[in-house]
Amino acid sequence: MELHIRGVSKTYPNGVQALKDVTLTIPAGMYGLLGPNGAGKSTLMRILSTLQEPDAGSIQLGGIDALKQKDDVRKTLGYLPQEFGVYPKVSAEELLEHFALLKGIGERRARKNVVEALLRQVNLWEVRKQKLGGYSGGMRQRFGVAVALLGNPKLMIVDEPTAGLDPAERVRFLNLLSELGENSVVLLSTHIVEDVSELCTRMAIIDQGEILLEAEPLRAVAGL
Ligand code: ADP
Ligand code: ADP
Repeated sequence: MELHIRGVSKTYPNGVQALKDVTLTIPAGMYGLLGPNGAGKSTLMRILSTLQEPDAGSIQLGGIDALKQKDDVRKTLGYLPQEFGVYPKVSAEELLEHFALLKGIGERRARKNVVEALLRQVNLWEVRKQKLGGYSGGMRQRFGVAVALLGNPKLMIVDEPTAGLDPAERVRFLNLLSELGENSVVLLSTHIVEDVSELCTRMAIIDQGEILLEAEPLRAVAGL
């Protein structure tokens, strides 16, 4: 499983050129996209998650043409937003079951099994009955991971995930992410160097819509 991004460009109607001829080959594992605010990271993430169209370029995920076969990409995509929008009055268990149903896991027993496995994986099983409104930022992020993992995504997009977390929650969350990248592509977008250097096997640096460098994190950071 590899993600191929070739010649992707995007200019917004206001004239801002958010992506300029971006070409990247992203293997399975944890891959970091590092860049300052305004670099074009979110634009690329939105294009990869089929929410936005590029002006030019092509994207291939495994054998799928991601710009043409959008439904196929959506089935195999997990998206973890910056902050998981909360539904404060429902429990983690209830909401995850609901999302599992939306993902097409129709049979009740199967749904229960999937929900239990995921909540254990993200270490929220003990607090599954609590209302999400009472969760800390880190717990909400881990819940977001469980939602994103429904349906075993081949491509997991993680957008600025550690922004609101305190140090202890951050370490826990990063450890959880590092377990995910074995068979799938996990693309981590961040402006925090440590998120990438601690976790990712490869990385790219993006600034003003251009890829400046692609490397292993230690070499890239040393070269800065
Ligand atoms: P990042 O996620 O790295 O902060 P973005 O992709 O959000 O970068 O933004 C890249 C550039 O495109 C910035 O200059 C931003 O202001 C601009 N931009 C982002 N979204 C829009 C939009 N919907 N309309 C116009 N300009 C946008
Ligand atoms: P991020 O921090 O993830 O880049 P932003 O807070 O910059 O996100 O952007 C949030 C929303 O505002 C996005 O939908 C983006 O498309 C839009 N946006 C960002 N910059 C601009 C801009 N210069 N003009 C219009 N819309 C923008």
